[in-house]
Amino acid sequence: MKGQCLCTRVVFELTPPIPDIYQCHCSLCRQVSGAASNAAMIISAAQFGWIRGQQDIRQFATDSGFKSHFCAHCGSPLPNLTRDDTAYWIPAGLLRESDGINVAAHLYVDSKAQWDQIATQAECFAEMPDPDTLNQLLNSSRQK
Ligand SMILES: [Zn+2]
Ligand SMILES: [Zn+2]
Repeated sequence: MKGQCLCTRVVFELTPPIPDIYQCHCSLCRQVSGAASNAAMIISAAQFGWIRGQQDIRQFATDSGFKSHFCAHCGSPLPNLTRDDTAYWIPAGLLRESDGINVAAHLYVDSKAQWDQIATQAECFAEMPDPDTLNQLLNSSRQK
């Protein structure tokens, strides 16, 4: 499954099985996305590959460790390695296909914007659940 930034300079590919998505409603994710929440998945590093455009990636990080990688030309958020280097964080909106992918969790629901109406069957967490719980939830339908 391929994904790309808005200007298509940066392209990457994911190897199935493709995990489900979470949406984080915290203030940092709102600011970096400009929207009510982000929408992202975590996939093992072995299932991720750059096709082109790595030289166009720029990065930003806060002192607290929140980081954002983005395309220097169009500003799209881009995949980046998680802290322990074993997985990639993937902005779900970059993917060219969406068949069979569901939102499995909403995070930081307690800090969502007042105007954010979460209509969902997915599990909601006030803040961040423990990593194992989240991991299990995002991979529970991995027959794709
Ligand atoms: Zn771009
Ligand atoms: Zn967040």
